[in-house]
Amino acid sequence: MSDPDIVIVGAGAAGLSAARILRGAGRSVIVLEAHDTIGGRARTSTPDGLHGAWIDEGASWLHQVDRNPLVDLARDAGETLRPAHQGGRRLFDGGRDVTAAETGPYDAAAEAWHAAATRLAAHARTGGPDPALSAAGDLWSPDDPWLANIEFWEGAIIAAADADSLSLLDWQRNQLDEGDLIPRDGVGRLLRRCLGTAAGAVRCGVAVRRIDWSVPGHVTIDTDSGRLRAGACIVTVSTGVLRDERIAFAPALPGPILAALDGLPMGLLSKAAFRIDDGARFDVPDGTLLERRLGSRGADGMLLAIRPDESPLATGFLGGRHAWSLAGREHEALDSIRDGLADLLGRDALKGLVGDGAVSRWGSDPLFLGSYAYARPGHAGARAALGTPFADGRLVLAGEASCHDGLAGTVGGAIQEGARAAHAIMAALPKR
Ligand SMILES: Cc1cc2nc3c(=O)[nH]c(=O)nc-3n(C[C@H](O)[C@H](O)[C@H](O)COP(=O)(O)OP(=O)(O)OC[C@H]3O[C@@H](n4cnc5c(N)ncnc54)[C@H](O)[C@@H]3O)c2cc1C
Repeated sequence: MSDPDIVIVGAGAAGLSAARILRGAGRSVIVLEAHDTIGGRARTSTPDGLHGAWIDEGASWLHQVDRNPLVDLARDAGETLRPAHQGGRRLFDGGRDVTAAETGPYDAAAEAWHAAATRLAAHARTGGPDPALSAAGDLWSPDDPWLANIEFWEGAIIAAADADSLSLLDWQRNQLDEGDLIPRDGVGRLLRRCLGTAAGAVRCGVAVRRIDWSVPGHVTIDTDSGRLRAGACIVTVSTGVLRDERIAFAPALPGPILAALDGLPMGLLSKAAFRIDDGARFDVPDGTLLERRLGSRGADGMLLAIRPDESPLATGFLGGRHAWSLAGREHEALDSIRDGLADLLGRDALKGLVGDGAVSRWGSDPLFLGSYAYARPGHAGARAALGTPFADGRLVLAGEASCHDGLAGTVGGAIQEGARAAHAIMAALPKR
């Protein structure tokens, strides 16, 4: 391999976005990706257990559509995007539908809880402590019968971590409060079409093991297929990979970056899906989200989505501690989703499923070690600190975890961060 201006580690959304900008600016770039394909956590696949149906194992919705860079890229490319969750949300209590008389109080509770969380966050911003998201419920109404569901949704499902482990301020900054869009054939494929070509060639199947920044003026990168020297390096791997020291840094990462990593563990959102038989009809419209009423705060919950996109799947979502407890236990995860579906829609619903199903493995895959990062209480500033360039501006960590302006944890945020890192690196390198 000949030495480039810049090495980019990882070809997910952030790495592809950085490569596109740097190559567009005439810089020589090598992108190294340990997996055998690009896209990272935006991955559309067709596992055997789904009998020909495709699944987005990771990202599947385009959030915050008014400021999501992937929405802009898709529209520029003439892609069709359509609104997600067209079937709405349906709530169950035991085996019965929650009545309209009960959903009213749920909606009212969610609104009142949001107002309480916003007030508490305003206090934290003006010098108060940055508490856990669960503090909002403690202050508002800890015995409210809907609090468990509200926290399940905001914590385990959206943030992939339970409400008592999340920074309130970070939660508030990253609320997903606009509608979602879905592409026609998966976010992984969309990302590939929108960024794959512009980002240029990627060396797949090459894992980076060590990054040496001890000598001013350049960075040395050791991979499992040789050594590279570059003027600068952008590292886009997850905080799970960095915290587990799967890549060694020499010298060690600077103290503020290590402190930021300490504040940004990986949450886990797992998907387990079954193919719906072509002729099968459930008693719910396509794009419906099914949720069960939870008995107590922190109870294990699951969200079920019936044909959430153009693929004929019943997909279950497990998040936070519950998801971690089933990481690496794929059969149990699949069984729990199958049982959940039977509980909500009746045993006959299972007759409409074909195949063994498929389950995501983000928690146990050494290239990710989780789904996306969350900030611990008191660590709302960690994302900005994580993405601060070091080594005279020649090394930058970038990705969903470093996004600190409202898109953290998302593909759009990763694209934005890849672009930010590319511009920061160009500012640090000698002009051409
Ligand atoms: C289940 C799930 C559901 C999600 N849902 C949504 C959603 O609906 N909408 C949304 O916007 N986002 C969603 N996300 C989050 C989104 O997928 C991520 O935030 C985003 O894709 C992260 O991009 P990235 O470039 O920061 O990191 P990554 O995609 O992780 O890219 C980093 C790359 O580095 C590679 N790598 C790791 N180690 C090495 C090494 N040693 N050497 C070389 N390469 C290495 C990895 O293989 C990977 O390809 C979801 C994620 C998951 C897991």
